[in-house]
Amino acid sequence: MLIVPEREIANLMTRSAAFDAVESVFAAMASKNAYNFPVIREAIGHEDALYGFKGGFDKQGMTLGLKAGGYWPNNLEKHGVINHQSTIFLFDPDTGMVKAMVGGNLLTALRTAAASSVSIKHLARKDAKVMGMVGAGHQATFQLRAALEQRPFEKVIGWNYHPEMLPNIEKVANEAGVPFEAVELDGMVEADVVISITSTFEPTVMAKHISPGTHIACMGTDTKGKQEVEAALLGKATVFTDEVAQSITIGEAQHAIYNHMIRPENIVQIGEVINGTHKGRTSDDEITLFDGTGVGLQDLAVAASVVELAVKNGVAIEVDF
Ligand code: NAD
Repeated sequence: MLIVPEREIANLMTRSAAFDAVESVFAAMASKNAYNFPVIREAIGHEDALYGFKGGFDKQGMTLGLKAGGYWPNNLEKHGVINHQSTIFLFDPDTGMVKAMVGGNLLTALRTAAASSVSIKHLARKDAKVMGMVGAGHQATFQLRAALEQRPFEKVIGWNYHPEMLPNIEKVANEAGVPFEAVELDGMVEADVVISITSTFEPTVMAKHISPGTHIACMGTDTKGKQEVEAALLGKATVFTDEVAQSITIGEAQHAIYNHMIRPENIVQIGEVINGTHKGRTSDDEITLFDGTGVGLQDLAVAASVVELAVKNGVAIEVDF
């Protein structure tokens, strides 16, 4: 069995490797060569922790396994470690034997950023110039860094519920050599691409904030009850997702489905666009919305990729098991 510790991931994994892994597993999902197992997420009644498993099997990439982990809200204060904790386990699909144990914290951020980037590559207008960010927390920095590689953006505009956090994303924009401007939500109408990545349970992005022709990737809603954007926006948009089953239950689409504004059969898996079985954006006026809920197969894909890199670089730890 191979171990790739969390401390090695930053040196090994690149944004482009994460992008390729996620794009290819989304394609495999749409062609029915890969499927996610039902998600388990439990409040364990200890340390206010939410713990669970996301798993799946990708027959194309021959990747089988799960990510185990969750959220421990007291970690930082009590133990000096980050609140989100996860570990990915890969198994040999031929024998069921454990193949690898991989640190999942940084990989989660990279695979989530890769998902919105894949959606931008396939759905945003080619002439997109203004990148809009709603959110400025931990994930937002990864999201923006990856998004800026998808189009030659000339400006980043950002809004955050806690304005004091905006320097987090301003720094990323500046590092990429793109000017940054803080705006009110009404100012988001200038954006050609928007990423929302917040933990809100009340919608902040309203339909009026998104202009015709914009691509919006909604990445924060991954739990029942969370909501970043007004349900009416999904009614106006062509809605894409990583996985329809998650989109309508724990994703942004849960609210539009509940309010009968869209139907599950109208939500398109992004993999169909990647595979060319759905045409994706059809006009410059169309609003495309990607509901990125985060699937287990994304975690397995990036973990498999990092194990390969760790072996190549001689840093995978081999143990008898
Ligand atoms: P964080 O705690 O670092 O940042 C939270 C963000 O939400 C900040 O921008 C904060 O200002 C904003 N926010 C908080 N309360 C708000 C409110 N009431 N209204 C509007 N904005 C509010 O968290 P993070 O690690 O950046 O994660 C952000 C979200 O992304 C979380 O909901 C997390 O569960 C989700 N997430 C999704 C995926 C996925 O695959 N889709 C993966 C990882 C995390």
